[in-house]
Amino acid sequence: MIGLFRDCEEKYNKRINQLLVTKKSNGATGSGIVFHEGVAAYRQLRKQLTPVELAFNGGLFKLRESYKREMPPEFTTELSPCPDERRSLLNLERIFEAFVNYEELQKFEYLYIEQSMAVSLGSIERPDCVWDIVYAGIVDAILKQQGLVFVDDLKTTTMAISQPYKDGFRLSQAMKGYIVGMKAILKEEIYGAMISLAWFQKEGKAGGKAKPVSEYFHTVPLTFTPEQLEEWHSNTLRTINKIIIASEQNEWQLAFSSACTYYNGCTFKEVCWSTPGSRERVLEMDFKRATWTPLEEVRSKDVSEEEWKRLLIKRSIGGDDE
Ligand code: SF4
Repeated sequence: MIGLFRDCEEKYNKRINQLLVTKKSNGATGSGIVFHEGVAAYRQLRKQLTPVELAFNGGLFKLRESYKREMPPEFTTELSPCPDERRSLLNLERIFEAFVNYEELQKFEYLYIEQSMAVSLGSIERPDCVWDIVYAGIVDAILKQQGLVFVDDLKTTTMAISQPYKDGFRLSQAMKGYIVGMKAILKEEIYGAMISLAWFQKEGKAGGKAKPVSEYFHTVPLTFTPEQLEEWHSNTLRTINKIIIASEQNEWQLAFSSACTYYNGCTFKEVCWSTPGSRERVLEMDFKRATWTPLEEVRSKDVSEEEWKRLLIKRSIGGDDE
């Protein structure tokens, strides 16, 4: 969530402090969770040396269960057509099957799946107190390829996977954080990070020029020097210091920048393009409060106003991801 603060302080405040999420889901977050859960189940079984076909079936079962739970109702009803074919159950199953075939070719050895981590980054002194900073997160997998250990991050996207898109991961702060965190926990030499990319695209017409599903996947290996990891450490502490100051003052800058428009636009754009006096009303109508609990069976839980106030009293700042 550190990246969220860097993008826009107000977005961080709304999502992390106020736990606000839109009620108008387009299935983007849900389909990502569904695919992650299917892949994690398949990898866990492969880690236990379960034969591929059984591991695939285990992953598929998990993917289907997750789809029922995570996707908006309009994606699971048989009364109307699926609003986004790229995220239909049938299409995710098709992509999952091809992903398993692709992943088997990588000849990974799975060491840990969905591994949580928490590592001390030092402390920050403020006039009235000292903050102990703990960097926490969950890594999709730790795996070995050709004798080298990588932290793996699975990413799903509907955007075309171009070279500039892949190059962008060289700037990823989360990947550096995962390497630093996992090095501290595993006490093992970590060679680098691996981005496992899966493209969510609908099936092309028979005989057409659409990419075959076997080409929907890319693996992007990344390595960072000790100087780059040290820079990540000091830069992260600098941002956390700013989060602490913003929290103390309860003042959050609205970015009004490209952060408002990239990908499909910020989830809070309808709020911010309204006049300030009417924003509370937009929030009441179109947003609800929900936590994000990625290590639990149900990863996102709705939160009532009373629960939110209780959480606010005991919650920490910062977060587990970009
Ligand atoms: S719309 Fe822009 S200013 Fe508003 S929360 Fe999102 S990023 Fe920040």
